[in-house]
Amino acid sequence: MIEYNLRQVHARIADACSAAGRAPQSVALLTVTKTFGPDAVREAFAAGERRFGENYVQEGIDKIAALADLRDRIEWHLIGPLQSNKTRVVAEQFDWVHSVDRLKIAQRLSEQRPAHLPPLQICLQVNVSGEASKSGVDAGDVAQVIEVARSMSQLGGVRLRGLMAIPEPAGDFEAQRVPHRRLRELLVALNAEGLSLDTLSMGMSADMDAAIAEGATIVRVGSAIFGARSAGTSI
Ligand SMILES: *Cc1c(COP(=O)(O)O)cnc(C)c1O
Repeated sequence: MIEYNLRQVHARIADACSAAGRAPQSVALLTVTKTFGPDAVREAFAAGERRFGENYVQEGIDKIAALADLRDRIEWHLIGPLQSNKTRVVAEQFDWVHSVDRLKIAQRLSEQRPAHLPPLQICLQVNVSGEASKSGVDAGDVAQVIEVARSMSQLGGVRLRGLMAIPEPAGDFEAQRVPHRRLRELLVALNAEGLSLDTLSMGMSADMDAAIAEGATIVRVGSAIFGARSAGTSI
């Protein structure tokens, strides 16, 4: 089932790219395995996936350990909230962190990244929906986004690659495009300021088509591959 779903998701990405006049290889699939065990990762790996996303630090660390035999062939991405007291283990174990929402976290990751590893690849998380509860730098405060991104881009142990957002669920395709467009416009603004960012991490199972239409370079997809996560439902 996982292999079948992955084929569907790749076809969806290809269709969205073709509708947007983009090359299919311009969008990377991040396979989101939170709440699913190491066996699910192995199955997706066997189907050809190499990038995996985890939401919770401890769950991710446990899975990385359980899959140590594949460590050199997998890129592990943290996509969930990161507190200061967890940065060290993340700097040591992950390849990417999409959810860096303040400078202090980036500074800690930079200091704690082991010297023998390449810089940790990071994205600045931006709040494009304006809800007080959502983490991320406020997209409305462009000066602040620029200042934080510029400071992050000067750190040595991390490499700022771009922006990430988790927009509020929106109804139809056109409504879904709006927050993704906002994130793309912010990336353009940052590059106009002299940064050279190449990553827009946006789009999930429900809105990946709209995100790709607006320029997503990494879509983070879980339930469309592994099925619903809520208790009582299964693939
Ligand atoms: C769970 C999660 C996803 C994947 O969501 P699906 O709707 O299952 O595709 C993507 N990004 C983040 C930050 C998540 O927490």
